[in-house]
Amino acid sequence: PSLDEVLKTLIRDIPDYPQPGVMFKDITPLLADHAGFTQVVDALAASGRDSLGQTVVDKVVGIEARGFILAAPVALALGAGFVPVRKKGKLPAATFEASYDLEYGQATIEVHQDAFDPGDRVLVIDDVLATGGTVEACLGLIRRCGATVAASAVLLELSFLPGRERLAGERIDALLTV
Ligand code: IMP
Repeated sequence: PSLDEVLKTLIRDIPDYPQPGVMFKDITPLLADHAGFTQVVDALAASGRDSLGQTVVDKVVGIEARGFILAAPVALALGAGFVPVRKKGKLPAATFEASYDLEYGQATIEVHQDAFDPGDRVLVIDDVLATGGTVEACLGLIRRCGATVAASAVLLELSFLPGRERLAGERIDALLTV
């Protein structure tokens, strides 16, 4: 099946989660499907390669928690390192933090101040782009560390929310837009 079919079949809608009125996109059926998971990791990894297939990033950032599941295999596929961006209070060493508003609620994320080498080129991975607040905050953290953002890639972009507008000027690759 095509990547499009895989994503449409294996990402399911859960109404009223985590609160009434929100339609939650659940990727667990996709993760449970070896062929689908493999196809999706390959497609996300393409965002870290040039047209000749050479890896052009040094680190892949995964945003807690679903971003971790996707970003770690992408990092290995690219021959790059993995860096976690975590919810506040989870990282043990000195961090930079950024707070932002979510589709539902508020959040603070952190990264280790020494997570990157100077000049590192970074690919950011998350599952869903909704309002764009999470990715925007994450890009700010990476730049504060002195690294360069090469691209961000998500499985799914929700086009009824203004994520892409909010991230105008940034490269955002979405495997599927709904
Ligand atoms: P944003 O900051 O509004 O773009 O929200 C994106 C963040 O919230 C990502 O880290 C997603 O994992 C999570 N998120 C928002 N909506 C959904 C959804 O429908 N399914 C899964 N994750 C979601």
